[in-house]
Amino acid sequence: MVMIFSACFAQNSKKPKYIFLFIGDGMGISHVTLTEAYLADKAGKIGSEYLSFSKFPYTGFATTYSASSFTTCSSAVGTAFATGYKTNNLMVCIAPDSVTKLKSVSYKLKEKGLKIGISSNVGINHATPAVFYANNISRTAYYEIGLQLWQSDFDFFGGGSFMHDKGKAKDKQSLEEITKNNGYVITRGIKEINEIPANVTKVVAFFNEDNNVQNLSYAINRKDGEAKLSDIVDAEIKFLKAREDKGFFIMAEGGIIDWAAHDNDAAGTVKEVIDLSEAVQVAVDFYNKYPDETLIVVTADHETGGMTLARTGGGKQGFASLDGQTGSVGVLSKENGRAICDSINNVAGVGFSTKGHTGIVVPVYAIGAGAELFTGKFDNTDIPRKIMKAAGFEF
Ligand SMILES: [Zn+2]
Repeated sequence: MVMIFSACFAQNSKKPKYIFLFIGDGMGISHVTLTEAYLADKAGKIGSEYLSFSKFPYTGFATTYSASSFTTCSSAVGTAFATGYKTNNLMVCIAPDSVTKLKSVSYKLKEKGLKIGISSNVGINHATPAVFYANNISRTAYYEIGLQLWQSDFDFFGGGSFMHDKGKAKDKQSLEEITKNNGYVITRGIKEINEIPANVTKVVAFFNEDNNVQNLSYAINRKDGEAKLSDIVDAEIKFLKAREDKGFFIMAEGGIIDWAAHDNDAAGTVKEVIDLSEAVQVAVDFYNKYPDETLIVVTADHETGGMTLARTGGGKQGFASLDGQTGSVGVLSKENGRAICDSINNVAGVGFSTKGHTGIVVPVYAIGAGAELFTGKFDNTDIPRKIMKAAGFEF
């Protein structure tokens, strides 16, 4: 039996040179199911339309609990994804002893010669991107985390902009300035990064035209011409592909799914999951060109909102009616924004059990070289271990 298994595995053991890890912050299986049901309803049927990643051939479940709580926060589970070790909520790649620094898989892959890209549609020093380049006892130490960005020597960073660019009290030297002084080119907007000269090797690409806003617009509020996650991933692939010889590792986060779900905003959440799906599609297009050398893994750090899809006594759930909501809860009117959102959630038959995170397992979707490793139920700390194994490296 062992020999048969080995033989099968050997057939599939192509090693990825191009590795993508997509993290939908707060994206539980309900968020994915709702988005699929919404797309089906819009197409006039009851059921499910695939997202770019929900049709991947390999699927699994990952635990989400941290070292300090069954209900994790993004930095603790991010640390698990980045380092292969669990830590306490709020910590960024520091062990539960509060002292030991944990090393992110991005550094390990850099040592193997891969180019590294870290990106998100929120601030680049927010928890999820932070765990891939920084160590800090607190995820809210945005300035100190931001100072570690240039020290990583990674090749591409993409996001909204720096949070706390001049520190909490706005009395420190600008992170942007420090990063520039240490060898990075900083671009702003979609056009600048896509026209970057070939001799630039390290870049921080900010996709907000306005430095005072640290995250990209919520998809539900976005105006024509504003950047979205797929623009970041598209630029990231082009930049890294043009400069690699041993491959690249890209971590891209859909960070606003979590915020919309914290607001118990079903319409806003669906639009964010679609954004993530479109960003993954850019990677799938790349995979189609290099199928034997590419691995794409899509997962979530935890579920947010305790979302359920239910209709007592059956009856049609009007998922497409989510389109009736014209903005996120935050931008709808102060007086009745909550009421509008609740009423639309109700028509769609979407319920929430919390304004926070939950501790349920999250789905994992994988395609490409080494994707077969991402099946079954496993611990979230196994994700970087599986990535290294897929690429043929010791963890
Ligand atoms: Zn959250």
